[in-house]
Amino acid sequence: MTGRQIITDAQNTWCPGCGNFSIQHTLKNVLADREKKGQSPDNVVLVSGIGCHAKIADYLDINSFYSIHGRAIPVATGIKLANPDLTVICCSGDGDCYAEGLDHLIFAAKRNIDLTVIVHNNRVYGLTTGQYTPTSPRGFKGKSTPLGTMEDPLNPIELMLASGATYVARGYSKKMELLQTLIREGMDHKGFAFIDVLQICATFFPAADYYTPRVYDLAGHDRSDFKAACTKAGEWDYNSDAPIALGAFYQKTSPVFEAKMTERALSAAEREQAIRDLLRKRT
Ligand code: SF4
Repeated sequence: MTGRQIITDAQNTWCPGCGNFSIQHTLKNVLADREKKGQSPDNVVLVSGIGCHAKIADYLDINSFYSIHGRAIPVATGIKLANPDLTVICCSGDGDCYAEGLDHLIFAAKRNIDLTVIVHNNRVYGLTTGQYTPTSPRGFKGKSTPLGTMEDPLNPIELMLASGATYVARGYSKKMELLQTLIREGMDHKGFAFIDVLQICATFFPAADYYTPRVYDLAGHDRSDFKAACTKAGEWDYNSDAPIALGAFYQKTSPVFEAKMTERALSAAEREQAIRDLLRKRT
């Protein structure tokens, strides 16, 4: 299929001004660019979790799987292992990925499975009308924290560097051109690609006035230098008034999990023999 309409005609219920629109249209542009180069959208699968972000599975006309809260990455992992030829994208929210699904995120990075994880990080539970998430700033006043949260936010960039992700980047929903580059790079990267997107929640955390004057492009940064990546990742802790770097912090080449699984896979006869050997040892 070529040149098709990628945005569906499903009724869109995101709030006006929501940063999810930027991510949706950026993904559409990346898919269209890839299609021009002969990479069919039919070979792409998008998995979403639960939250405002997850509706993107309804709004893009590609193969998709609307999964359950925090479990988008395990579903995406299963799809990739079943058919390593597919390009698998995982859209997740900050509550979805950094709270309920945190262990899955860490282990997917550790395994270096070839997925592209795009986190719609609006730093609030939008769908449930404004509770704090692991990346909400200290003092955030929401439905569950009327006096302000007392916790410091998680720094997902540092977390992913420490967990072994082989492509680590940060985008911003108001910088669509850069975001397009990052998503394209993430999809082209052979290994676990992680893109934390500062996504504006227009209703419960409208942070554009905070982000826009602080963001800068990491152009010129040596993404092969792990220590430099860690230094850049620590520059802004999701809480302070420091400059906010956007772009790719780190990238390296490393064997992917699905290839190791294929190498390890036994034939039916080998499996049968392995079970017989195991049973013999036990008796
Ligand atoms: Fe977007 Fe926030 Fe509205 Fe959800 S609540 S659709 S994240 S603006």
